[in-house]
Amino acid sequence: MLRKPILLTLAFAALPAFAQTPIRITADLTEAPRKLYHAEIDLPVKPGPAAFTTPEWIPGNHRPTGPVEDITGVVFTANGKVLPWRRDDEDLYQFHVVVPAGVTTLHAHLDCIVTGRADDKIAVLEWEKLLLYPANKPVRDIPVQPSITVPAGWGIGTALTPVTPYDPNTKPGGTIQYEATNVEQLQDSPVIAGEYFHEFTLAPEVTPKHYIDVVSDEPKDSNLRPELLNEISNLVRETGAAYDSRHYHVYHFLLTLSDITGGEGLEHGQSSDNGVGEHDFASQQGQLGASDLLAHEFTHSWNGKYRRPFNLYQDDFHKMQQGSLLWVYEGMTQYLGNVLAARSGLKSQAAYRDMLALSAAQLDYKSGRIWRPTEDTAIAASILRGRDQSWANWRRGQDYYQEGELFWLDADTKIRELTDDQKSLTDFLHIFLGKGGNTGPLIVTYNRDELVKDLNDVVKYDWATFIHERIDLINPHADFDGITRGGYKIVYQDHPSPSLAQLMGGRRGGGSYWYLGLAISPDGSIYDVRWGSPADKAKLAPGQKLIAVDGVVYSNAAFNDAIDAAKTSKEPIHLLMQTESYIKPIDIDYHDGQRYPAMVRVDGTKDYLDEITAPLTKSPTPPATPAAPAGN
Ligand SMILES: [Zn+2]
Repeated sequence: MLRKPILLTLAFAALPAFAQTPIRITADLTEAPRKLYHAEIDLPVKPGPAAFTTPEWIPGNHRPTGPVEDITGVVFTANGKVLPWRRDDEDLYQFHVVVPAGVTTLHAHLDCIVTGRADDKIAVLEWEKLLLYPANKPVRDIPVQPSITVPAGWGIGTALTPVTPYDPNTKPGGTIQYEATNVEQLQDSPVIAGEYFHEFTLAPEVTPKHYIDVVSDEPKDSNLRPELLNEISNLVRETGAAYDSRHYHVYHFLLTLSDITGGEGLEHGQSSDNGVGEHDFASQQGQLGASDLLAHEFTHSWNGKYRRPFNLYQDDFHKMQQGSLLWVYEGMTQYLGNVLAARSGLKSQAAYRDMLALSAAQLDYKSGRIWRPTEDTAIAASILRGRDQSWANWRRGQDYYQEGELFWLDADTKIRELTDDQKSLTDFLHIFLGKGGNTGPLIVTYNRDELVKDLNDVVKYDWATFIHERIDLINPHADFDGITRGGYKIVYQDHPSPSLAQLMGGRRGGGSYWYLGLAISPDGSIYDVRWGSPADKAKLAPGQKLIAVDGVVYSNAAFNDAIDAAKTSKEPIHLLMQTESYIKPIDIDYHDGQRYPAMVRVDGTKDYLDEITAPLTKSPTPPATPAAPAGN
């Protein structure tokens, strides 16, 4: 049966659109340094029993991460009197209250103990930390009017629209009120705030408007380099050419630069919540590890937020968000994020190839692929995410990202080959992501049949089988067809590629000796062993610790030297291992030396890879202008 995509028009604009009185919520972020957020919430009610809830399944997290265990200090009052509440016995996210006669507004106070993304200088609010709203109702039908309180001198970045004109660069502090929206859209509109805050306008000639809001722990870091701002402006322009539509009224990249508040990448329709280390964007070379983050999360505004798998979308945050199409939602975004990062100059074409070689080689040596198909890594996403790394190679993990990247490269080069380079995946994206033209923030669901139909609208081919063979079936090897068709091949060298060397900080060797079948922490602790590898045959296991290598106390250098020495020796590598309270010798019979993946050009073939990563736009890239008032 062909499921028609369901078009869901989201009411999110002005207050009069709602028949109901909105919930009013004020988020107080002034205690971010103490890792506490507070909310004061006015809930329109009728007398009698009522149930209120906090969110459980958080869009983009692909698992039930609503922080119910961190929500504390819950007090309901009506007309100044405290009311008793009782948690639901089955749904632990729900609170039951009996509203007294004559009461039309219930007040709720709650606190959230924040476990990350907040410190002395920075506060990040994903609204599920503070939201409380009527249970068992579609969240798009619940109006809510938000306000945000921050300390004086702190700037606020968000895609929410201030009710009164607000210039983020004057940083007045206090409470800023925002236009009413609905609970679905508020959850999709995070906030960053901080003392060291900058807002920059991007690609000023593009409509709608794009901004990047930056906060950092140190004063100078939020003032991004002009070259980086140009690259992000290029990214805005490249999405116009690649996706041929936009599905937001305004877009805010929200970026935290901090070694304290931690890494993050979470997509939203009109913004993205990006967290990197304090200096990760400080230099062109040093930004390699974070080079696709903004492009990935921005791409999700189209692929993931606007176009959403039919079973991943649920109309409230309590129904399970099902992951079977995450190889599209995340996999195609993984592909496009890296491609658009290269097209925008956030990374070089050579770095794109180096990183793809590394990812492809790791997938090819992933032993779990002999039992778990790619689709199952997506279906099982919510139980695979956040698991520890022991036997991760055998577990296989969330390979729908990287397998999806290879899949969509395969599809892109296949379209180019079938059409004699007249068409590409870009033609598919214009159809698939551009349905309905430019829109505000909508959710339009799809299923696999629609993907097949849209691919066939680009070029006739047996796309259903193409998908089935690569996604549903066991494939003992990773899909290198896109790389081969792209004019390159994967080879193994005794030295890392320039990009890998950059990521490893100039070290040889490193944590992931995948060819040997070992992943090692800096202190010598093994955190993963590859099934079927030399390390597996030697009966090494996660949790063991390397004490000595060939009679020398373990160090990264000593281990590399032993691997090199074994190349010209018949002797195995002699290890001394600690397993809990025991010490024992273990030999690994391995003589192939250090092996690092790289991509080399195959002469005489069409170079699709460099064609794919070349910019689509030829704009003059004027410098990003400094902060403009965020009239939104
Ligand atoms: Zn993603």
